[in-house]
Amino acid sequence: MQVKRPPIITVMGHVDHGKTTLLDTIRKTSVASKEAGGITQSMGAYEITHGGQKITLIDTPGHEAFSKMRGYGAQIADLAILVVAADDGVKPQTVNALNHIKQAKIPFVVAINKIDKENADVEKTKKDLGQNGVYLEGFGGDVSWHAISAKTGEGVNELLDLLLLTAELENFTYDADAPASGIVLSARMDSKRGLSVGVILQNGTLAAGQFVTAGAASGKIKTLENFMGKRVKSLVPSAPAILIGFETLPNVGEIFFAGNDFEKATALALGAIKERASKSQKTAGMVPTGDENEIHIVVKADEAASLEALSDLIQKIAELENSLIKVLHASVGNIHESDVKTAENAGALIVSFRVKPDAAARNLATAKKITILASHIIYELEDQLRTYIKKMTSKERRAIEVLAIFGKAKGKERVVGGKVTLGPVKNQESFEVWQEKRLMGTGRILNLQSGRKDVLEAQTGQEVGLLVESDDSIKVGQRLVFGE
Ligand code: GDP
Repeated sequence: MQVKRPPIITVMGHVDHGKTTLLDTIRKTSVASKEAGGITQSMGAYEITHGGQKITLIDTPGHEAFSKMRGYGAQIADLAILVVAADDGVKPQTVNALNHIKQAKIPFVVAINKIDKENADVEKTKKDLGQNGVYLEGFGGDVSWHAISAKTGEGVNELLDLLLLTAELENFTYDADAPASGIVLSARMDSKRGLSVGVILQNGTLAAGQFVTAGAASGKIKTLENFMGKRVKSLVPSAPAILIGFETLPNVGEIFFAGNDFEKATALALGAIKERASKSQKTAGMVPTGDENEIHIVVKADEAASLEALSDLIQKIAELENSLIKVLHASVGNIHESDVKTAENAGALIVSFRVKPDAAARNLATAKKITILASHIIYELEDQLRTYIKKMTSKERRAIEVLAIFGKAKGKERVVGGKVTLGPVKNQESFEVWQEKRLMGTGRILNLQSGRKDVLEAQTGQEVGLLVESDDSIKVGQRLVFGE
């Protein structure tokens, strides 16, 4: 039997545009005060009642929630609030948030924030949004929006009205007869009570005493609490909940299943893992569609906690570098041949933390030119990945586009014609050979000519002839990229 459930909402947008402030304001004004104060530390979501209707808000702002869930093939939010500060307009992470929303295919409502500020310019913000493909209601489009001040609370009630209206149209439901399932939002060790796991319930009925499984972790729900830390017997979607009783820590973002039958809950959780694996293989087997600027990564690490740290790091880097990064596959253990094949099929690079490629994987990676970034130190890996992304995506790198190959290669030497896309480029300089998003090899200029004369350097826009030394073949259309 399908039963109506409240919407699950996430807040996204550029840093400092007011996501946290908005979440705080909504929480303060809408969580019944007699219940408030029960919980000191957030478990990842909270529930409010607005106009007699419930709404669940995920209170990890930003995109972290999204990317983690996606890594596990789960989708958590039904709706998003895109926060854009009226004194700042559309910024890189606004665009990034929009991309996430598009990929998740969920409806969203725009909150134009900080209207209490003197320099707030709502009209300009609307225009900015239009230029980024977001056409607002009353402005040539149908995206709902409201001008608010998360700080003073102005417009926040109306924003919540809009969200409920959108949810009404979407008609979110759950299956009352299905086993309980949902997503792990947080997991921590409570010194008095053991493992305390925050979840959001998406289907079925969750009750104390049920068995619960999420990935490799399982247990029996000894205590079930609502998000305020109040003990309850059972909960229905889309309630946030705290579970005490897991024997080991589940991964954040993992799908959980619960029921009176331990075998069944475990079988369902295993099924979810298998489905995820086959999905990620399918994705890996395809030539990546989607955004051509999307960077694909295979992640390997020594333990689950490292994978989580890495996924946070990758998300942070995606935001810093303003690039779309998709983790195609993440698993614990050394890099095996299958990981390299996955990376090859999807045009991905491999990022590994505290693990190594085995011999077969190393050979295949060398043969197929699959880049493996590896380190035992997280900030080193961050540096490596950021540099790699810069080289891969940046147009601000000194480079020569290869337009012609002359004659046959003599040993490692060959003659190449090209155009300096960004100079200066100097004779004797070393370069990397890039083909689209892939690093193909390295080399060095042995002689540089422009207008058939030897020159010491060539400038942006100049056509050049080069005698180069390179271990690998160089092809028309590739880029020779210089400098760090
Ligand atoms: P986040 O990074 O998107 O979570 O942004 P925060 O909620 O941390 O807000 C960043 C800064 O903007 C803080 O100093 C907030 O007090 C301020 N801020 C957020 N919303 C408003 C608003 O509506 N009006 C004003 N004047 N300041 C705001």
